[in-house]
Amino acid sequence: AWRERLATWSGPARTADGAAVKLLANVADGRSARAAAPTPVQGAGLFRTELCFLGRETEPDVETQAAIYAEVLTSFDAGRTVVIRTLDAGSDKPIPYATSAGEDNPALGVRGLRLSFGNPGLLERQLDAVALAAATTGTSPWVMAPMVATVDEAAGFAARVRSRGLIAGIMVETPAAALLADRILEAVDFVSIGTNDLTQYAMAADRLAADLAHLTDPWQPAVLRLVAMTAEAGRRLGKPVGVCGEAAADPLLAAVLVGLGVTSLSMAPAAVPAVGVQLESVTVEECREAAENVLEAVDPQEAREFARAVLTPS
Ligand code: PEP
Ligand code: MG
Repeated sequence: AWRERLATWSGPARTADGAAVKLLANVADGRSARAAAPTPVQGAGLFRTELCFLGRETEPDVETQAAIYAEVLTSFDAGRTVVIRTLDAGSDKPIPYATSAGEDNPALGVRGLRLSFGNPGLLERQLDAVALAAATTGTSPWVMAPMVATVDEAAGFAARVRSRGLIAGIMVETPAAALLADRILEAVDFVSIGTNDLTQYAMAADRLAADLAHLTDPWQPAVLRLVAMTAEAGRRLGKPVGVCGEAAADPLLAAVLVGLGVTSLSMAPAAVPAVGVQLESVTVEECREAAENVLEAVDPQEAREFARAVLTPS
């Protein structure tokens, strides 16, 4: 029966008691956006723009960038959200024209929004390109920055985005951003939690190190508490808090995230039906109970057990 529900699930996502949950797609370019658009998603929650430019030796000019962004924007009809992330180059995604090789500690180095510290033109031109794409397609994308650690960075980014008439947010990927989520949310319109990096930085464990997989687990209670803190800040301020890391694609964890107060989940389109079916089988109250319990767990195993005890049908 589970398999059949998976095959026929057509969205939009609702809990058993009818609460709507926004499910969105992670996309990388026009092609993946066109593939995601007909699936039961309500838009794109993470467009990883750097994936369009991997291996490029020179920066594409504003018009070239705008044409690429427009392809993604036109894939989704009006009324569906598209969240464009500015260049997250560096660390595991080096881009010759933007990043410098030879950092001792690239994951802690000049990556994401930090690239604009020494080269503000790079971000300005990308935002010009996004604004141009928005104007030519008649759409209103949301724009967010990766690797933010301070309120000042968030506010500076938001000013640049809003001056172009666009909606501004940031990714919560550092423990610093989660701990200051209330202050950051005063400065931006929304946040999206990148659980892959948030886990890496909270656990001080390289997300690519296979030997450390037990630490780079988004069910780590320390990570869940940072997510809870961020979602709570969003609730208090009445602003959207999404999750766009791998955690959103784990059906059981997706239900826990809803219980923690997360307002949208963005994932690889292939993961959407399983998350949709899971959410349909639980009530918001059950999600909340599971969320409360996992915050008391001492390790990921116990967190999973606590969630299963409440969320899986007996
Ligand atoms: C994340 O860090 O969770 C995220 C969504 O961004 P990326 O995986 O591209 O670093
Ligand atoms: Mg990230």
